[in-house]
Amino acid sequence: MSETTEQRHDLKSLTKRELAELCAGLGMKKFRSDQIFQWLYQKGAVTFDEMTNLPKDLREKLGEIAYIRSLSLHQKQTSRDGTTKYLYNLHDGNRVEAVLIPEFFDDGVADRLTVCVSSQVGCVFGCAFCATGKMGFFRNLTPGEIVDQITTINLDSLERFGKRITNIVYMGMGEPLHNYQAVMTSTEILTDPLSLDLSPRRITVSTVGLTRQIRQIADENRPFNLAISLHAASDEKRDQIMPINDKLDLGALKDALQHYHRSTGKPVTFEYLLFDGFNDHPSDAENLAAITRWLPSKVNIIMYNNVLGVALQRAREERLNAFMKQLTRERVRATVRRSRGDDIDAGCGQLAIREGQAQGKTMAKATP
Ligand code: SF4
Repeated sequence: MSETTEQRHDLKSLTKRELAELCAGLGMKKFRSDQIFQWLYQKGAVTFDEMTNLPKDLREKLGEIAYIRSLSLHQKQTSRDGTTKYLYNLHDGNRVEAVLIPEFFDDGVADRLTVCVSSQVGCVFGCAFCATGKMGFFRNLTPGEIVDQITTINLDSLERFGKRITNIVYMGMGEPLHNYQAVMTSTEILTDPLSLDLSPRRITVSTVGLTRQIRQIADENRPFNLAISLHAASDEKRDQIMPINDKLDLGALKDALQHYHRSTGKPVTFEYLLFDGFNDHPSDAENLAAITRWLPSKVNIIMYNNVLGVALQRAREERLNAFMKQLTRERVRATVRRSRGDDIDAGCGQLAIREGQAQGKTMAKATP
């Protein structure tokens, strides 16, 4: 990045209000900043010259004080089941991944088109089962770098399926609530009528359990859905696979979630990767059932995509079946999420590592 670039504003790092303020500072009327916003997020402009409904002198003025930075696609892998993984180059040489997961009606027409998006380059939290966790932490993504993953996949989805993406889950590389402000700004952009105009009910932000930020989401009455990456239902087991649990244990998580439910009235989803012989015992199902009674909730039991070098393995079918039967007996609302993209590097972070993403900082014990 040149020195000149550093002194200018990265337009895609701004909220809509900040963009309006910047434009007002240049003497532009409000509708001009709306036009620019549309160019950035609806029409995918990568230069000011493309913004043809803006007078030339305004485009020049903008170019003097701001720049547009966009991701470039490095690699794309499509699985037999239609799941596609996109690996993007960032301007500083780092790479992040996003995934498009299509679900089809019986006649083969695309029904739900979910994008799993990354929020950080790497991750500091070091969960034992996670390829991104092994990579360590490099940096936060900007709001524009998050939104760009989705807008570019949306264009691909239109081309392949004739249909816009329908859902977004913040479950790619990184812990979304560890990059709180950029993630919040990106959700505001994505739900804006001048951008993708997605309903917030179609957006799910997931967290390993950063309790301060869960409370903040509640206090700010954020309209998207919240999911908790639980993956173990007792402190003893969670401590073994998720270092965050050392500082923020299940008791702290329970308090934060009950605050969330009291403030918003909304349920949460618990995500639970089922590992063979580790967290798939009858006692685990009982503990999980007890956790679901903290507040209105449902559970997604996720079949793990095995990761090279990780001892934890996907649970066998018979253990999954027994676990689900017990959850049913315990009256838990639970759904099995089958792994997608088994034949590509679909586990979060795997493709980036294989494609030479360097090693970043990992904390032995993660800090929230
Ligand atoms: S599971 Fe999420 S929080 Fe844990 S290391 Fe991976 S990206 Fe980070």
